Amino acid sequence: MGRQKKTSVGVGSGRQLLLNQEKGSFLKKWTGRQPIALIYPNSYRVGMSSLGFQLVYALLNEQETLVCERFFLPEKGDDLLSVESGRELTQFPLIFISVSFEHDYLHVAEILIRGGIAPLAKDRDTQVSGQAPLVVCGGVATFMNPEPLAPFVDLFLIGEAEPVLENVTDYLVLKSTVADRLEIVKGVSERYEGCYAPALYNPVYGKDGRLAGHSAPPELAGRIKKVFQQQCTTAAHSQLLSPHAEFSNLFLTELGRGCSRGCRFCAAGYIYRPPRLWSGDAVAAGIAERWEDTDRVGLLGMEMADAAELDTLSNYLGESGCALSFSSLRADRLSKPLLDLLAGSNLKSVAIAPDGCSERLRIVINKGLDEQDIIRAAERLVAAGIYKLKLYLMIGLPTETEKDLEEAIQLVDRIKGKIDPIGRLRGRLCEITISINCFVPKPWTPFQFHAFGVSEQLEKGEYKSRQEVVNRLKNRLKFLKNGFKAYANVHVSHDKPDNVLFQAILARGDRKLAEVLLEMAVYGIPWKQAMKRQGLTAEQYALCGYDDSDYFPWSIIDHSIKQSYLWREYQRAFAGKTSDPCDTKKCRVCGVCHG
Ligand code: SF4
Repeated sequence: MGRQKKTSVGVGSGRQLLLNQEKGSFLKKWTGRQPIALIYPNSYRVGMSSLGFQLVYALLNEQETLVCERFFLPEKGDDLLSVESGRELTQFPLIFISVSFEHDYLHVAEILIRGGIAPLAKDRDTQVSGQAPLVVCGGVATFMNPEPLAPFVDLFLIGEAEPVLENVTDYLVLKSTVADRLEIVKGVSERYEGCYAPALYNPVYGKDGRLAGHSAPPELAGRIKKVFQQQCTTAAHSQLLSPHAEFSNLFLTELGRGCSRGCRFCAAGYIYRPPRLWSGDAVAAGIAERWEDTDRVGLLGMEMADAAELDTLSNYLGESGCALSFSSLRADRLSKPLLDLLAGSNLKSVAIAPDGCSERLRIVINKGLDEQDIIRAAERLVAAGIYKLKLYLMIGLPTETEKDLEEAIQLVDRIKGKIDPIGRLRGRLCEITISINCFVPKPWTPFQFHAFGVSEQLEKGEYKSRQEVVNRLKNRLKFLKNGFKAYANVHVSHDKPDNVLFQAILARGDRKLAEVLLEMAVYGIPWKQAMKRQGLTAEQYALCGYDDSDYFPWSIIDHSIKQSYLWREYQRAFAGKTSDPCDTKKCRVCGVCHG
């Protein structure tokens, strides 16, 4: 198979050096094999931390007849070459792209252009070749809303890779030399769930200019059903390790997929439904796949795992001499074994996500955490040896007022009241970094009906101006920054409201945005200018009100979640009512389970 199991620090080009320091890469001969390019449209550092990207890489390379090589967004001035063999993109008739975040949509257009490939699918030759490859796109951003990318893509794979990737790839390889582009994508869409060939579906707009539907050929499904893995015997885990990845040499293992908590702002909690916890045996089997010298394991899905399971895993990792690492954890999930493991793990920094600034807002977003949970967690973490606490907060949430922001400042005050005495005793105070992010109303969540940066519920068609909303968010940021300034060892980081607004536009966008992305990629112009040139506005995408009768760009995807359920949850948020977490054994409220 030619898979690199050992590392050695090599010399030579940057590409060769990266390769030499990796574990898990496949170096396969090309003779007699079908080449596939796998692109992550961001840097090596970011892409190599994506478990989904790694999984596709391994699944493709485990097929004897395929050779899959990775491409990442190169630095300015660097060539776009595959990591494994340094080949150009035009040597790959099949291109797979994994997209996790909206801000990488622009990079999709950029990479295709830099690789010498016509970025729009309609401009690529009907006969598939290296110069005119078949572009297949997947990843979590595409099963949230694939539409802004649709004109660049021949085929989307909507959902999780494991159930369909092998069959779909076999079909594409078989047909790529004998059929034309549209025949191939139509054929594969007829055969396999999760396949969405955007060229075969046309968006239909109403007289008011709002999207009213997609027309589909009669022989294809009207909506594309997401595919997902029901269960597994070995939990998904890292396939590649690199010291240059964002999670440097951290071996990730899933505890499950999705999340049962039902936080109303979180798209992952909806588009990965039903929430699935892998069995203890499957998780142990996943962790057991780590390299012998792995000393740090990161668990994904800790929000969902119950306390007993976390304790078992904590004990197991402790006995195996493995440190546990995680980026964020639920403040109400800190048990003694977990804290003991943490204390011995040399982990100095942990994030807690209150998300909502106040107790009331945490009810609106259905976070299921109260102030005491957060304060107690901070205290216990610092007592266990943590020197750096990160707190995630959002501004611009539905119903938010300045009073909610004041409560965030009081929360930090109370946390400091508990953790500073611990810090003084050990001679080093804990630093707090408050990461403030503007809330983006994402597709497939109850807040999909809500306008970006607006507190109140707008009527259908009513909108706020971009300037008004951005100024309001800037003022909120200023208020919080001033409030936190009074505290020593408290730092604030935040995003820029204008940039996040564009993220919201992309998250909620339709195909018209592809021209905006293309102009940005070709001319290097800012998004506002590119939108203006296309006669599009922020207001029409992200700053107006919707109701439950609306058809959205993402309605083309079928997650089995009823729109009426999301609307009800939206109304419950405004009524200050919480909803129970998922109980997949008996619940059928959203439409996903027992349908
Ligand atoms: S039907 Fe109930 S348990 Fe199943 S995903 Fe929906 S809310 Fe969760």
